[in-house]
Amino acid sequence: MSNALCQTTLIRAARAVDALAITEDAWMLVAGDTILAVGSGTDAPPAHRLVDLGNATLVPGFIDIHGHGGAQGAYDNGPDEIAAALTMHRQHGTTRAVLSLVANPFPSLARSLDTIRDVMSSDPLVIGAHLEGPTCGSFGAP
Ligand SMILES: [Zn+2]
Repeated sequence: MSNALCQTTLIRAARAVDALAITEDAWMLVAGDTILAVGSGTDAPPAHRLVDLGNATLVPGFIDIHGHGGAQGAYDNGPDEIAAALTMHRQHGTTRAVLSLVANPFPSLARSLDTIRDVMSSDPLVIGAHLEGPTCGSFGAP
């Protein structure tokens, strides 16, 4: 374990919300990207560093399973607009995203999926793509 991962951080917040409960006067002890312990009140363990979020609410990262973009960009429009949208969403708590594509002709969808595959190869926080379908006639139908 590297030295940075051995350093513990105690995060305090007015409350924490997770799948099980809303906890007032919450704390969470972390080391690197691992949660070591959670609790409330004054019984928090000692840590190398304290981050006090004041009156903020501590929540798990959001998983966006249906989004078309953001920051005036669309996931259909190439890597620059994807990057801008992901940056905006991450500033607001999204930690994982499935990138949704609007219905388009099949060749356009294939290009967009190639781009998303490339993004996923360097960004593990993008966990997939969602298609709203090809447009009519994409497969040669009348
Ligand atoms: Zn949609």
